[in-house]
Amino acid sequence: MIAKLILDKKREGHSLGSAEIREFVQGFTRGDIPDYQMAAFAMAVCCRGMTARETADLTEAMEKSGRSLDWDVPTADKHSTGGVGDKLSLVVQPLAAACGVFVPSLTGRGLGITGGTADKLEAIPGYCASLSLDAFQKVVRDVGVSMTVQTDEITPADRKLYALRDVTGTVASIPLITASILSKKLAEGAGTLVFDVKCGSGAFMKTREEAVQLARMLVDGAKAAGRKTAALVTDMSAPLGRAVGNANEVAEALSWLRGGDSEGQAVSLCVELAALMVSLAGGIPLDDARRTCRERLADGSALARFEEMCAAHGGDLDAFARLLEKPTSKFRIQAMKSGYVSSIDAEKVGRVALALGAGRLEKTDRIDPLAGITLDVAIGDRVAVGSPLATLESSRGPDGLESAAADLLKAFSISSAAPEPSSIVLERMD
Ligand code: URA
Repeated sequence: MIAKLILDKKREGHSLGSAEIREFVQGFTRGDIPDYQMAAFAMAVCCRGMTARETADLTEAMEKSGRSLDWDVPTADKHSTGGVGDKLSLVVQPLAAACGVFVPSLTGRGLGITGGTADKLEAIPGYCASLSLDAFQKVVRDVGVSMTVQTDEITPADRKLYALRDVTGTVASIPLITASILSKKLAEGAGTLVFDVKCGSGAFMKTREEAVQLARMLVDGAKAAGRKTAALVTDMSAPLGRAVGNANEVAEALSWLRGGDSEGQAVSLCVELAALMVSLAGGIPLDDARRTCRERLADGSALARFEEMCAAHGGDLDAFARLLEKPTSKFRIQAMKSGYVSSIDAEKVGRVALALGAGRLEKTDRIDPLAGITLDVAIGDRVAVGSPLATLESSRGPDGLESAAADLLKAFSISSAAPEPSSIVLERMD
């Protein structure tokens, strides 16, 4: 296989053969194909696209670049394509486990303005989010749920390619995102895969059409690999919940696990996603699964699973409670006019959170776990001049907070009429 010929072929818009894709990925994983050729490949795919067959071949080649797990118990996982304030996995995964499904969940770190579940969990002092595969399997069997990042043992090709895409402007490609997500999810071995495909300013897919296309590719790919599957396309034009950051998002997820905001849209979405996992994995009607999920959330079983998972990963929730008490620099923004909050732009909020230190601008940046934003209002709330809108927080001192606050203010739109209520779930796909 001559790498340059494959690049020429894709650049000219031709389809690649299965063997060409497989050998290209194998060569890259071994280190025979250098980063610059893989970056050119990713850019050619971004510009020229891939057929469904090529995407399936890429997925398979990436899945087979490392180990694949196999389970003899009913397993399910939920994957979000990434958003702002998206702490749903912290609730959904233990909730599904509390309903009797085993949840082996390979999760990610923050990317651009989208936060990562692994970074959030690492805000809990001691939590190790990079277990070996053997340790990961043991926690899943002992506790019913484990959330850890991908290591060199599993889909190393995705790990390497993802790092390259992040710095070469090649993340937003439906075939590349599909292969990246599916290869990891197939390798972890979960028998049921539920996808939460985010759509809107705070997501990779900005339009509903793109999100639906990605959801279709993920569902078709998972089905072709023999998985039970469904996808929800959900709104990411505004942050999910009130907290955007890391420690504050874990605190919000814990409050939901303790029964808070049980009728809110974000908690309802957690229940819907967990219910899909339970229903598909257990072959039970969705309404029954929804009822069980509501019960397990209300009776504290989901919280108990989360606590057990934390302990098994070395996390100390008492130390986390003390961390939240640590003094930080804060800055509050207020409404400049009265009216109704008609939108809170997720992308703008995500950018400010990133600038505060809640995410990484460079791969080597260290996250400030206490940095972030807490919203005081939700869409539809009535505000007067001077009403609090949000609080910015950083443990790195007050520098930059005021200018970040000015940027954050631009995320809020206030209008004289109350906005129409809208649903967070836009579409379901099977
Ligand atoms: N999440 C992933 O795992 N991969 C992508 O390419 C995008 C989001």
